[in-house]
Amino acid sequence: ASLTAAEADGDERTIEAALRPRTLDEVVGQVRVRDQLGLVLEAARRRGRAPDHVLLSGPPGLGKTTLAMIIAGEMSSPLRLTSGPAITHAGDLAAILSGMNEGDVLFVDEIHRMARPAEEMLYMAMEDFRVDVVIGKGPGATAIPLDIPPFTLVGATTRAGLLPGPLRDRFGFTAHLEFYEPHELDLIIHRSAGLLGVVLEADGAAEIASRSRGTPRIANRLLRRVRDYAQVRADGVVTLDVARAALELYEVDELGLDRLDRGVLDALCRRFGGGPVGISTLAVAVGEERETVEEVAEPFLVRNGFLARTPRGRIATPAAWQHLGLTPPPALVA
Ligand code: ADP
Repeated sequence: ASLTAAEADGDERTIEAALRPRTLDEVVGQVRVRDQLGLVLEAARRRGRAPDHVLLSGPPGLGKTTLAMIIAGEMSSPLRLTSGPAITHAGDLAAILSGMNEGDVLFVDEIHRMARPAEEMLYMAMEDFRVDVVIGKGPGATAIPLDIPPFTLVGATTRAGLLPGPLRDRFGFTAHLEFYEPHELDLIIHRSAGLLGVVLEADGAAEIASRSRGTPRIANRLLRRVRDYAQVRADGVVTLDVARAALELYEVDELGLDRLDRGVLDALCRRFGGGPVGISTLAVAVGEERETVEEVAEPFLVRNGFLARTPRGRIATPAAWQHLGLTPPPALVA
């Protein structure tokens, strides 16, 4: 199978959607999550019931939306998509829930950012398939109970710890997505290249894989940037040299750190002497939202041993100083 010409040349969102695996079997990596989820879905199918609510956590781009779509697909159920920030009132959620049919899958991305009253409404909807719609204000307000057909909620969050306990407890299945290994990203890149019609040499693919921050979305994005480079500045073939030159142009370094990652480490080492420094202060120093630094840059930097979280704040490890070509303060070396 390959993409239609419109898909292959479409805008980035169209391409991203077209590259998504459609079934659990097509999902690369995340073996445990795939096995566990497969069992949950198979059991639900045999019972003819909607599967338990599913919570997916992990950094952006690791496949949470993809898995939500696959859950709906494997259950042959319609999928409705929304996100926490879009639900600012309980009424927003009531409107969505009251329009659902039995077995529908509701995907709520960034579920930790939902408004509080909506969150409380969601508890009851998840547990009893019922909500109380409040009509009117003040002493005259009345709550009208509304039954909701059994549905499956798939919630996504960057960190499960951001959810209040009562909400977390109402998910029957929780999966944490881990960063991908280079050989898994390599498979994803080859699969995407096949779909996009990109001619890719093995070491070109490996180079992109090793610089993709353990993240499929980034692997696919870098593949497209390298393809641009190959088509414009070379003969269209993604070789090792083409991949290296393109990635350098896009400021992705040998370890996959991008501008934000390096900016965070740079601020940490040069401006704060390696820390400890609070995440908010660090975010201001790099001119980014706190959430972006905490949920996008930090998990990768921590996992790769460049940054550590301590009770007093973030600190740079010797590896961070070294990566920036700086000499760590004597205390760190000893
Ligand atoms: P999230 O919702 O966690 O931010 P997505 O589900 O949108 O991430 O995934 C981003 C992109 O990465 C998708 O377009 C998809 O093509 C690709 N992708 C994610 N996970 C996988 C996987 N396990 N195998 C293959 N491709 C994947």
